[in-house]
Parts: sequence; C-alpha cells; structure tokens
Amino acid sequence: MTLPCFDPSVSADIAICGLGPAGRALAHRCLVRGMTVLAVDPNPRRRWRATYAVWSDELPAWLDRSVIAATVTAPRAHGLREHIIARAYSVLDTALLQQTLDLTGATVVPGRVVSLDRHTVMLDSGRALRAGRVVDARGLRRRPRRAEQTAYGLMLSGDPMPDALFMDWRPDNGADPGTPPSFLYAVPLGGDTVLYEETCLVGAPALTPEELARRLYHRLRARGIALRGDEPIERVRFPVTGGRPGAGRFGAAGGYLHPATGYSVAAALSAADTVAAGGSGWTLAAHTVYRLRRAGLRALLALPPADIPRFFDAFFDLDTELQRAYLSRRDDPAGTLTAMSGLFFALPTGVRARLTAATLGLRPLSPRPSSSVIME
Ligand SMILES: Cc1cc2nc3c(=O)[nH]c(=O)nc-3n(C[C@H](O)[C@H](O)[C@H](O)COP(=O)(O)OP(=O)(O)OC[C@H]3O[C@@H](n4cnc5c(N)ncnc54)[C@H](O)[C@@H]3O)c2cc1C
Repeated sequence: MTLPCFDPSVSADIAICGLGPAGRALAHRCLVRGMTVLAVDPNPRRRWRATYAVWSDELPAWLDRSVIAATVTAPRAHGLREHIIARAYSVLDTALLQQTLDLTGATVVPGRVVSLDRHTVMLDSGRALRAGRVVDARGLRRRPRRAEQTAYGLMLSGDPMPDALFMDWRPDNGADPGTPPSFLYAVPLGGDTVLYEETCLVGAPALTPEELARRLYHRLRARGIALRGDEPIERVRFPVTGGRPGAGRFGAAGGYLHPATGYSVAAALSAADTVAAGGSGWTLAAHTVYRLRRAGLRALLALPPADIPRFFDAFFDLDTELQRAYLSRRDDPAGTLTAMSGLFFALPTGVRARLTAATLGLRPLSPRPSSSVIME
C-alpha cells in the first residue's frame, strides 16, 4: 500500500475539486470572503466553450452584468400552440464569465483528484492536500444508467435575429413519427450571431448527435434559413442524473442540476455565497424540491412522443410565477408542487393517466414511452 504524501506547503481553508462554472464560482466567492483557497483541476487553464444561458432573474446580485452577451425579454415557446414567456432570458458570454470568476490569490493545483474526504484530497500523482473543508465540484461523468441531454447546434452570423425560441417542438424537423422528439432552441449570442440548436431534452438513451444534426439541417431548410457551410458547431452531451445532494458537493456533482431541464449554472452561481459561508445549500426544502424534480423527470421520460408538445403547452400556459417556481426555485417545495399539480390538471385525461403511472413508478400505460430509464 502506498502511503499518501502530504504536501505541507499546500493547505487552505477550503479545497475545491473541479474548476467548471460551479467550482470556479465557489472558489471566487470564497476568495472574496478572504478565505484561503486551494483549487484542483486536471486542466485549470481550459477555456470554457459551452454556451451558458440563464433566466435573467436567477443571476446573483454580485455577478457583474457585463457577462451577459444578450438578453431576450420575452422568448417564445411552441408546443402545439405558440406561447410568449413573460420572463427575460440571458445568454452569457462564456469567456467573460470565466474571467469574471477571478481566482487571483487561490493556489491552483493542476491534477486529477482520485479520492477525497472532509479534509483531504488525494491526487493521482500520489500527492495529498489538506484543507479545513473539501468540496467536490467535479461535475458528472457519463454512465450507461444516467439519463442525458444532447444537442447539436450551429452558430449563424449575419442574418437578422429571428424571434428567440426557448423551446420549439413543431414537427418540421423530419423526425419519424413515433420516435423521441427534439426541439429547436434559437437564441442570440451577441453581435449578429444566433445559435440554432436541435435538442433532446432528456433521454436514456438520448438522441445521437448525428440524428440531431440531421433534424437541424432539415428544420433550417424547411424554414428557408440558408447556411454557408462553415458555421461553428456546438455539440452538447451531459448527464442530467447522478448528482448527489450533500454538504461536500457542489454544482452538477452536488445535485444542483435540474434533471428535467439540464440547467445548473445559475443555481450554482446563486448558491456560491451560501456554500462559501459554510452552509450546505441543502435545506429540508431543497431536498424536497430535489425529490419533486426527480419525479418530474420520471414523468417526462415516460411520456409517449406525441404527448410531449401537449405537456409543454400546459406548462407554458401556467402563470409565470409558477413556471419560475418549477424551473428555478431550489427551496420552494410549495411553489414546485403547485406548478406540478397545476400542470397535471391542465393536461388531457389520457396524458394524466400516463404521468400518474410514471410518477408512481408503475409501468407506463402507453406501449411506447419516449424512453425508459432507471435513475441513479
Ligand atoms: C455544451 C453545453 C451547454 C450547456 N448549456 C447550459 C446552459 O445554457 N445553462 C445551464 O444552466 N446549464 C447548461 N449546461 C449544463 C450544465 O450546467 C453544465 O454542464 C455545467 O458546466 C456544470 O457545471 P459544473 O461546474 O457543476 O461541472 P463541469 O462544468 O462539468 O465542471 C467540472 C470540472 O471538474 C473537473 N474535473 C473532472 N474530474 C476531475 C477530477 N478527477 N479531479 C479534478 N477535477 C476534475 C473538470 O475538468 C471540470 O473543469 C450545458 C452543458 C453543456 C455540455
């Protein structure tokens, strides 16, 4: 057995494992509080490339608004009908966000964490680091049993900005009827650039990038949107399950990712101060919301493809406050439950029966759910 080799020169108030948006936000806010910070990542200088977006009202007051690349005041959604969402949506400038979460003063250690406990971090080099507190922000690894979100996007420049589409389930993407549906997400990236992304909200397995690319090209052709052929591509694939709530974990690793939407960036930014101050971010209310959201994901996964646009019609018919409660409030079980029950009773009877079966963990009544999954 190899004994850990403690590095006495490296210890701090807090050690943060992983420097994605969650780990970096936490490290930054700890530094602002005057704490000594140790941060470990295999590639701490990696430039983030993903397009991160948030509901504008989710951003914490401390975050410099210059990180917002573009804001849409009333994005649209389509199920079988059009909806205008009375809630502003912002796309972040990823490079600026990373830069704003300044790590000056932190001890940044390039390395891969192989194990950790409350006060110790073990690196694959055999080096061991100590801290008053250790937080795991290593994100989520892909695993066969984990439901995933996938998307394939193209960044188009030079055309006038169309109406921003938060979620467009219209069937003009050439998908075979009865196959798992995908939706179009179309948002401004700043300047004259627009991201068009065909998205599989969640699946187990999720739609492949090849299938999503085929659908995106079909949809853009159907809408008369011309391509030059050299548009930058965004590929998205990440697990939406597998996070574990708890004091020692943060971000996607710590259950902050909304399993039915895939969003976690705003939740991590908002909770960074609480966790920096020594809180766990996991009140009883947050645990309850976490369980309700997982029930929502089970229901979503069990819905047959044809029911999905109806489901979102009912969702976007909800009062904006209820939409906000379901999408954004980690600590509002009453709001989440009111939104879920309001949605449930607004659905057609057949859809309701299938949702009930799925939420209770019974076999779906439909012979063909959009996907099936055993969640970790
Ligand atoms: C292309 C794309 C677009 C997305 N868009 C949005 C969006 O618009 N809005 C939204 O809210 N969410 C979005 N998400 C989903 C999700 O919020 C992100 O995946 C987000 O990056 C999660 O942040 P995180 O810091 O928790 O984990 P990650 O971003 O996964 O960061 C984990 C970090 O830990 C490091 N790490 C991993 N293993 C180790 C190890 N063994 N030791 C040390 N360090 C390790 C990694 O190098 C990485 O830097 C998107 C995801 C993708 C992939």
